[in-house]
Amino acid sequence: MSDANTLLEITAADYALLKLKKRLDNLPQRARLLEIRTKRAEVDTHAAQVAQMRTSCDQALKLLQDEEAMLRERTHEVQAQIDKTNNYKEVTALTNELESFSRRMEKIEFDELRQMERSDKISQVAEQASAALARLTAQDEKLLASYQAQAGTIQKEAALTQRLREKLAADLPPDLLKRYEKARASKGGQGAAHIEGNHCSVCSVELTEGQLGKLRNGGEIGECPHCHRLLVVDA
Ligand SMILES: [Zn+2]
Repeated sequence: MSDANTLLEITAADYALLKLKKRLDNLPQRARLLEIRTKRAEVDTHAAQVAQMRTSCDQALKLLQDEEAMLRERTHEVQAQIDKTNNYKEVTALTNELESFSRRMEKIEFDELRQMERSDKISQVAEQASAALARLTAQDEKLLASYQAQAGTIQKEAALTQRLREKLAADLPPDLLKRYEKARASKGGQGAAHIEGNHCSVCSVELTEGQLGKLRNGGEIGECPHCHRLLVVDA
């Protein structure tokens, strides 16, 4: 193969690689996965808040239950004291104490009920959050599998193209390859073009008769006066 043809094959491979990369970047699963993961992070935060509410609710309930147990014990003690004494004043004072225990216990029972209702609501919200997380995780897994399958096909094709390109590059004289790489780096993607009719095949700018003549007299490989890519002059 002539250097000019090798050059065109390399630029075709680079163009194919560029298109493959674009296809990979534009796989629709990527955007959707990002959406799902953002949503999942929100639900995670929410679930953490719910867990905190559960802890605080459990703690409040435990405090009430402890106080209730303590009051029951005190009630027995005071009751025993009343049973033992005949002193009227003492009995009155102890009875008052019992009544205050009883009032406090009523309030505690009311508060306990309220905490239990709160606990039920928290459980409902926690279940919803956990169901949402499970749903999002399942969606994520399904999308990821489909993304990986499609991306894998594209990456395999890119690897083959890359290998072909390396083989072609090895066939090119080093100085020509260097010129090509320089043009490719500055242009992004394709470093060479050919004359198609009377214009550059990549930048599409029409060449004047003078420019065409100069290129034809300059050998097989010139440079596009507009985009400065290497330009293969067709025989
Ligand atoms: Zn051009």
